[in-house]
Amino acid sequence: MKKFGLSVGASLLVVGAAACSQQTSTTSTAASDAPSCPVTAIPITVSVNQWGNIVEQLAGQCGTVSTVVTSSSGDPHEYEPSTGDIATFTKAKMVVVNGAGYDDWATKAVQANNSGVDVVSAAKVNNVPEGANPHLWYSPDYVVGTTNAVTEQLKRLAPDAGGYFDQRQAAFQEAMRPYFAEIAEIKAGASGKTYGATESVFDYLAAACGLSDLTPQGYRNATANESDPAPGDIAAFNKDLTSKRMSVLIYNSQTEGAIPNQLVATANSASVPVVNVTETMPEGAKSFEQWQIAQLEQLSAALGLG
Ligand SMILES: [Zn+2]
Repeated sequence: MKKFGLSVGASLLVVGAAACSQQTSTTSTAASDAPSCPVTAIPITVSVNQWGNIVEQLAGQCGTVSTVVTSSSGDPHEYEPSTGDIATFTKAKMVVVNGAGYDDWATKAVQANNSGVDVVSAAKVNNVPEGANPHLWYSPDYVVGTTNAVTEQLKRLAPDAGGYFDQRQAAFQEAMRPYFAEIAEIKAGASGKTYGATESVFDYLAAACGLSDLTPQGYRNATANESDPAPGDIAAFNKDLTSKRMSVLIYNSQTEGAIPNQLVATANSASVPVVNVTETMPEGAKSFEQWQIAQLEQLSAALGLG
């Protein structure tokens, strides 16, 4: 009997999903106890899911969010938008991009197809200069700056939902509390702790946690320019792992390659803990903050902070 009831429920769910399937990818969800949106939902397109999830939380039921790059779509640095992706930019009333050269394909799609639309660029609102490390969602300050700019823009587009957006922002800030608490806790215990990184993705957050970056400069420059590091830089990196001068190795598991894999092997044989981080929000992560908190907890454990 129970099984029968379940399958009826499941098919009803399928019907419900089919009835509202105009969105290309992720759909916003709001907590069941949240107030309902007083205006027509704003069509919003976001370039990458790191920001997409935050925008979904901030817009709630007042936004229909289409996110172009999800974790399975490949490397956002090199992404080529499809015709379907371009269409989501064309119909959007608001667009959110990272900027700083990270997702130029999104900015180009907007300029070519919907140049009048309101664009929130995380790089612009945080005054990040061209050429800076573009992994802005890993900076607690830039996340706050971008969050504020997104909420302001939502309120400009739908002033009648101003109170609703204020509530969504307060809920997001509440959800982010454990993230800031974890950063403060690591910072309190991180004095003298160091790291090397296979790629620059986590650098802003490592700095916020008070860790010193020992990644050889030449290695860092090479990966930022997507060229091969010089043998001397790789040797220096390996040496700092073998001697445990680096407390942890931070490994971007989304960017595989012979050199990063070899550094992980060196760390493993030297018993230097490896912290796995990802570029985009992985499949299975419930939210931006859950993803980030899980990585911070992994870092905290790797540093022996519990
Ligand atoms: Zn990257």
